[in-house]
Amino acid sequence: MNSNPRLLKETDRRPVAGDLDDLYREVILDHNRSPRNFGRLATANKTAQGYNPLCGDRITVFIDLEGDVIRDISFQGAGCAISKAAASLMTANLKGKTVAQVRALFGEFRQMITAGESNPQVLGKLAAFAGVHKFPARVKCAVLPWHAVMAALEDKNEPVSTEPL
Ligand SMILES: [Zn+2]
Repeated sequence: MNSNPRLLKETDRRPVAGDLDDLYREVILDHNRSPRNFGRLATANKTAQGYNPLCGDRITVFIDLEGDVIRDISFQGAGCAISKAAASLMTANLKGKTVAQVRALFGEFRQMITAGESNPQVLGKLAAFAGVHKFPARVKCAVLPWHAVMAALEDKNEPVSTEPL
């Protein structure tokens, strides 16, 4: 038995074990109750809004981008627990990351919540959202803040929607 996640190799993708669900739920509830990096960022030079019409979630992200690196990031908005916790954990994770790293993380995150396979070494606490794949209606709540970040980095002025307009 090898239950230490730190010993997993990158190739050891596996469905998330059921006994981890409670721990993950705690992480999500905690970030919903006390969201990190919540509020407008005065030093932001990139911003974008995301909207998920299926659930009503609205998230605005503020990014202080220096060269290719996210120096600081925050978010504002209203939505369900999943979207708020996803934005909170995402902002905590993205500080200090390069644009290329953000893109790669978003790819991993999206694969995790659509396919239900996680890579704890890459995703860290973001793995808390692995269980979301069992609730397809909530997948868009969890990816919404990421769409907003990508839109901000690509200087899109129109709000991005998780649904085709
Ligand atoms: Zn939602």
